[in-house]
Amino acid sequence: MKLPSNSRMSSALGLVLLMISVCGCQDQAAIESENAQSQKESSSKDSQGISSAKAFEHMKKMVEFGPRPSGSPAIKKTQDYIKSELTSYGLKVTEDDFVGETPKGKIPMKNIIAEVPGAAGDIVMISGHYDTKLMPGFDGANDGASSAAAVLEMARVLAKTKPDYTVWLVFFDGEEAVVEWTGDDNTYGSRHLASKLTADNRIKQIKSMLLVDMIGDSKLDLMKDLDSTTWLVDLVWKTAERTGTGKYFLGNESGYSDDHIAFKTAGVPVVDIIDFNYGPGNSYWHTTQDTIDKVSGDSVKAVCDTVLNTLPQLFKLLKSGLPRETRIPN
Ligand SMILES: [Zn+2]
Repeated sequence: MKLPSNSRMSSALGLVLLMISVCGCQDQAAIESENAQSQKESSSKDSQGISSAKAFEHMKKMVEFGPRPSGSPAIKKTQDYIKSELTSYGLKVTEDDFVGETPKGKIPMKNIIAEVPGAAGDIVMISGHYDTKLMPGFDGANDGASSAAAVLEMARVLAKTKPDYTVWLVFFDGEEAVVEWTGDDNTYGSRHLASKLTADNRIKQIKSMLLVDMIGDSKLDLMKDLDSTTWLVDLVWKTAERTGTGKYFLGNESGYSDDHIAFKTAGVPVVDIIDFNYGPGNSYWHTTQDTIDKVSGDSVKAVCDTVLNTLPQLFKLLKSGLPRETRIPN
């Protein structure tokens, strides 16, 4: 992660932007109708089988590998760990190898994709990044490890199911800048995959992308991302409210540059679930204070539960033919 997007974010981190999200009436009505229906169907809070202990263990293991910037020996260990976990869940794993053209030269990178075959071939993507910022002594317990841990836990639970749509669990490499978050020095993995799927004409199969990043903070507070697709943000936030995790999903808004942008640009509806308020004044972000004692398996679980609880309604909405546009016109 990720700079607040310049056009919309105030320089004061954590500043509350009191903006009312306006969604197209028709689609808003469809979402509310789906939520009302689901409320009838599900009388209890559904934890989906996500384990906060397992989530914490994943974060701990990755931190123990050491700093994990792209191309490092420690990221190789992380890749092996992620692949071995996914395989143990019985999932088919694809390695998407490429070379990042960075300000420090060519760096080998690897996205990892696990597939849960669904009733339909079209795809909903759940994603995060597993690399860490290139910085001596940087553990990246939250920024890197938490999102990979979340995607692993969701993979484990989803592997036992047959969803309505095929689900891809995607672990991006090269999210972090090698030198500085400007121009193309960031989000190497997501840009590579979006571009490859566009070239293959397979991007149309990707019906939505849910991205989780920096969601391990033991004081979890998520703001709505203004650069995400409005109806998808609303769906996730309403699901949280309905299923008991609403206290973490705040009404405030901001905008973030992250791995969702390349997919949004390619026309995929996207939501970035991110907590960019990590420590006092965000002081743990991209510092050596991003350590294992600052993160919580419960926070990761709350986000995973919310994402998994969102899926059934998302599938229904997709089947009903919601437009692919990244923004519903106001
Ligand atoms: Zn970061």
